[in-house]
Amino acid sequence: MDIKQIFQNNSDWVAKQMQTDKNYFDKLAQGQSPEFLYIGCSDSRVSAEELMGLEPGDVFVHRNIANMVPNTDINSMSVINYAVMHLKVNHIVVCGHYGCGGVHAAMQQSDLGILNPWLRNIRDVYRIHHKELDKITAEEDKYKRLIELNVQEQCINIIKTAEVQKANRDRSLKVYGWIFDIHTGKLIDLNINFDEILKDIMAIYKITD
Ligand SMILES: [Zn+2]
Repeated sequence: MDIKQIFQNNSDWVAKQMQTDKNYFDKLAQGQSPEFLYIGCSDSRVSAEELMGLEPGDVFVHRNIANMVPNTDINSMSVINYAVMHLKVNHIVVCGHYGCGGVHAAMQQSDLGILNPWLRNIRDVYRIHHKELDKITAEEDKYKRLIELNVQEQCINIIKTAEVQKANRDRSLKVYGWIFDIHTGKLIDLNINFDEILKDIMAIYKITD
C-alpha cells in the first residue's frame, strides 16, 4: 500500500465525521471519559473499538503481544493506574483471541530471544493449569483452552493490583475475560467467576490503604 493512501483515508474520514456532526472534533478535543479499559492483543486482526462497536472516546486501550498483564510490566501497570485512578473506568476487559500467535509461540520450544521472558508468562499460565491442559489430547483444543486460561490469569493479575482493590472498595468496578473468535467474528464472554476462583487465595494479595 502507498503510504499516501493513509492520508487520503484520513481526509475522507474527517470529512465523513464532519458531515454527520460538524462539531465532532471540537467535542473530541474537550477530553475523554471512557467507561472501558480494554487490554487486548497487538494482533492486527483484533481491533478494540471495531469489535465492540464503539467509537473514539469510548475505550481506553492497551495492546501487547498476547494481552498480558505481568505485574512488573510498567507499561500495563501504568495504563491500569491511569484508567482506574484518573479516568475512573467502570469496566476492565481482557480480550484474548483464538489463533493468538503469542500463545502459540509459548507452546513451542524455539528460542525467540527478547520474546522469551515475555512468553514465559504464558508458560507460567500453562504450569498453573497443567493438570487440566495435559488431559486435552487434541492440540487445537489445548491451544484454545490455554488462550482462555491466559485471559483468566491476566484478569486475576488485574484484580491483584492495589488500584483495582481500592476502586472495588470505593465503587463498582468489574473485570471481564473475553475471547474474540477470529473464525466467526463473535465476542465470547468467558463468564469467569472471580469470587469463586479467588476465595481461598485473595487474602495473600490483599492490599489495604
Ligand atoms: Zn494474539
